[in-house]
Amino acid sequence: MLDGNAIAGTLHDVFGGDMTTATGTCGSCGDRGVLAEVRVYLHAPGIVARCRHCESVLLVIVERRGVACVDVSGFAALDQPHSDE
Ligand SMILES: [Zn+2]
Repeated sequence: MLDGNAIAGTLHDVFGGDMTTATGTCGSCGDRGVLAEVRVYLHAPGIVARCRHCESVLLVIVERRGVACVDVSGFAALDQPHSDE
């Protein structure tokens, strides 16, 4: 079982910062936690992150022509950490 740390590099590329410490709220069950703790599946079509509590899909990353497309619609809220940059 992989967690959010497995996609830290991909998330960094997409969001331009470390997202493993970002706090997300599940749109299905309301569970709140940092992205480092989500369940990650790399072999779904693209990369899929699921809620550790209810298994709902929170985040999907699909790469098309070298550009990563991110769907975060599974989150009720996603609070990005403050960047030092
Ligand atoms: Zn949930």
